[in-house]
Order: sequence, then structure tokens, then C-alpha cells
Amino acid sequence: MRQGTVLYPVEFKGIGLHSGEFARIVLHPEKAGTGIRFLAKGVYIPANYRYVLHTDHATLLGKEGVKVSTVEHLLAVLYILGLDNLTVEFLEGSEVPILDGSGYHFYKVLKDIRLELEEEVRVFEIKEVFEVKNCKAYIRVEPYEGFCALYRGYVKGLLEEGTVQYCGNVKDVVFARTFCYEEDVGFLRSRGLAKGGSLKNAVVIGKGYVHNPEGLRSKDEPIRHKLLDLLGDLSLLGIRIRGRVFSHMGGHTLNYAFVKSLAESSFSTSSTSSCVSTP
Ligand code: ZN
Repeated sequence: MRQGTVLYPVEFKGIGLHSGEFARIVLHPEKAGTGIRFLAKGVYIPANYRYVLHTDHATLLGKEGVKVSTVEHLLAVLYILGLDNLTVEFLEGSEVPILDGSGYHFYKVLKDIRLELEEEVRVFEIKEVFEVKNCKAYIRVEPYEGFCALYRGYVKGLLEEGTVQYCGNVKDVVFARTFCYEEDVGFLRSRGLAKGGSLKNAVVIGKGYVHNPEGLRSKDEPIRHKLLDLLGDLSLLGIRIRGRVFSHMGGHTLNYAFVKSLAESSFSTSSTSSCVSTP
């Protein structure tokens, strides 16, 4: 598989889910080997786990005091489309626009403007099972010819436990919107999160129903979104995984722990685990 970039610069704009601030980003073509990087306030921030500062309801990267946030949906689409080299420049704001809450608008614009480069992609080949877990979730990767990611989870009061997968079909994940539970909205806002959230860019789940008048795009849309998040966070490895990734109830924090541990592991140990009980 060859590396890719975009044929020409392309712009996206809109409000950020958590900051509520308007943002305008331009994706610029880059040569092979550049990787994905953000440019904000004159600082280049590589889309790499080494620059992750926070994973609280979204993935936030930072360097030299400059931060960019909610990078995961855009990164997931870039990963899916084989766009490996880009500079994502912030002309306004510092949070990637949430658009409709899914990866769909990024996908729609970017799918037809991929430029294939000469160089082959770099691949991280999984040779043995590797797993990271916490108290209630785990992410495991195992050898596999190609790439496949699976997510198992449930939606409280709405969906029994189920498994969704991405093995190359973009339609399996790209449409799935971000979501939250009705009872968490006040809590999120009290912590300065979800200020830009509305029924136009997020699914709000009540007790056994969704508040959005149009309903869900698929009955398992929320867990498909968790899979989209996983793909975006996996891309922070900075190199493509050849393996089969399985997440049971993982979120951004465990995704990050997984990527970091995998990158830093010499495979001398096959499992890492942390389970800190909080009062
Ligand atoms: Zn998300």
C-alpha cells in the first residue's frame, strides 16, 4: 500500500463540540514521510501519541503550550482513506469542527481527492497478542493479514451488548455520530465540555429513546462511533497496524494507553494492566 496525501488544500469550518468556538482548518498536501501534523499559532504538532495531553471525552494534542483538540474523527477518516501526509492548519480556533458529529463530511470531501505517492506506507506488524486493560475494559491486538478493528459495547437502556467491525468498508463507521447520555449533559457542561453540543451534532440518549427527532442512523450507531474514535486514536501510533484490534468497552483514555504501550513495548511482555479503584 502506497502513502497518500490530498491533491490540493481543502477547508472545513464550524464550531467545536467542547469549546463551542468557531474554527476553520485547511488541510494542505505534504510529501511522503511528513505524516499528519497540526499547525496552530506557528507550532507544528505531530498527530502522534507522544503529544497527547488529555483524553477526557476527546483527544487533545499539545506542544509548546499550543493545543488542538477533538482530533479523532478527522484522524479516523484520514486513516480510512489512506491519507498519511498532511498539515492541518488552524486559521481560526483550536478545536477541529464537529460538523454533524460523525466523520461523514470529512469523508465526503476527501474521498475523491487522494493523491497516491510513490513511497510505501510504514507498517507495524503485530507478531503476538498484546493487550491493555483497566477495570472494565480492554483492548487487544493479534496477528492478522491486513487490518481490522472491532468494538464491543452496549448503550445503556437502548442497545444490548453487540460487536461492530471495520475491515475496510468505510460505510461501517463513517456516518456514526458522537453521543452522550441525557443525564451527563449537565455534568459535561459543568466541566467546560460539550459547550458546542446540540442535537445537530450529537445524539443525546434518554431512557430507552434518543432525543434527536430523526432518530439513530443505525440501531448500533453509538458503538459504531466508538469504533470511529478507536480508529482515530490508533492513527496516533504514526504507523499503520497490520493486525486485528479488538476493543471491549474502550474509550479515548484506554485507546491512548494502548497505543502508547504498543509503541513503547518491545513485546517482552504481552500484557499490561492497570486497575486503580477510586473511592
Ligand atoms: Zn468521537
